[in-house]
Amino acid sequence: MTTDTKTRAEVIDGKAFAARIRGRVAEEVARIREEAGLVPGLAVVLVGEDPASQIYVRNKARQTVECGMHSAEHRLEPTTTQAELLELIERLNADPTIHGILVQLPLPGHLDEALVINAIAPEKDVDGFHISNAGRLATGQRAMVPCTPLGCLMLLRDRLGDLSGRSAVVIGRSNIVGKPMAQLLLRDSCTVTIAHSRTANIEEVVSRADIVVAAVGRPAMVKASWIKPGATVIDVGINRVEVPGGKSVVVGDVDFDDVADVAGAITPVPGGVGPMTIACLLANTVTACCRAHGLAEPRDLTA
Ligand code: NDP
Repeated sequence: MTTDTKTRAEVIDGKAFAARIRGRVAEEVARIREEAGLVPGLAVVLVGEDPASQIYVRNKARQTVECGMHSAEHRLEPTTTQAELLELIERLNADPTIHGILVQLPLPGHLDEALVINAIAPEKDVDGFHISNAGRLATGQRAMVPCTPLGCLMLLRDRLGDLSGRSAVVIGRSNIVGKPMAQLLLRDSCTVTIAHSRTANIEEVVSRADIVVAAVGRPAMVKASWIKPGATVIDVGINRVEVPGGKSVVVGDVDFDDVADVAGAITPVPGGVGPMTIACLLANTVTACCRAHGLAEPRDLTA
């Protein structure tokens, strides 16, 4: 008789962690209300009728209110012009009841995303996509940090404690996930490699990492043979794939079942990074409110 001595990776429960973050956000909202008589406010702007975006916006608004914050939803026609959208952003920039502004992406093709994002006042840019926040993060200054990488960092710190000296590979170099993720890991003194579609011998590059963050958009691309035994694997990917019976399911960028036999810890999809993204948006709104009014910032809710 043979005995299976393989140990499975710890599955990191992002859903439970995100609920704890939302609980902390609610505590901070109550403190801000008591200390300063203020209510942090988040404005979410949606242009058009993209079904996935509508669900995201609804969830964001619901969770904002559940944490005791003020939520302002702006749903605009798909034909909204650039000038009309910029005019709304100007109004929100000047609105003292609004501390965070989020423009749901993607925008319809006739609108210039970079122009729109850079019109948001940097201190209200709770998505952290403004060029000034990207530059501040890259140069080690206080910034608004993009929500998904911030959520990944929180999960990593929670599991591993001090990240200093660890070797990290981020797969993907987008402005919203890969690059800011790499900056955050560098700031925590990891030795960071960014892999992308042109990386040679990607399997070998990834297999040296203590920390792997996959943000690619390719279902189950990262295989067990790529993973150093005991590594911590964070799967950012959200991929919808068809399954028999005419249905579809959401899977990550990591081949979860096989990788879980090798890794020390792994985030599932769904239920890993996804819930952390909205929780970090709420955390960023509290941070923005504290900064705007010179209140003490909750350190555990920022990078
Ligand atoms: P992008 O498409 O902007 O970037 C994907 C990156 O993956 C690119 O840098 C690309 O490289 C790289 N890539 C593509 N193919 C390969 C390959 N074969 N080998 C190595 N690298 C490759 O995606 P995002 O960063 O916006 O998102 C990545 C994933 O994360 C998506 O599945 C998305 O849905 C998900 N996501 C999840 C969020 C969450 O809340 N959980 C939030 C945001 C995104 P190159 O630059 O060379 O083209």
